[in-house]
Amino acid sequence: MKRKTINLITQPHTTLHNKTGPWRTEKPETDLNTCIGCSFCSKICPEGCIDMDNNRDFAGKIKPVTDLDYCKGCALCVHECPVKAIKMVKDY
Ligand code: SF4
Ligand code: SF4
Repeated sequence: MKRKTINLITQPHTTLHNKTGPWRTEKPETDLNTCIGCSFCSKICPEGCIDMDNNRDFAGKIKPVTDLDYCKGCALCVHECPVKAIKMVKDY
């Protein structure tokens, strides 16, 4: 008998194989003017979907980019941000 495979997420940073964006009811929005580029949000994100490597502002400061295809809306980044630059907003 052929077994049915179910894609379960048992480890952090594994959702690149499972788009978890549709799980969300809220999404994070980042105020890049308030952001100080500390990377805490990127480090705490269980899905590894906040990129700190490829976005700089005009002054050369590193800024986060969130890949919403893989953000499940857990809001850990909001709680971790030391300057309250991230807030959750409704995502329909
Ligand atoms: S809400 Fe923030 S911490 Fe949670 S998955 Fe989305 S980007 Fe990552
Ligand atoms: S935790 Fe806040 S201040 Fe730090 S990089 Fe993320 S958004 Fe910017």
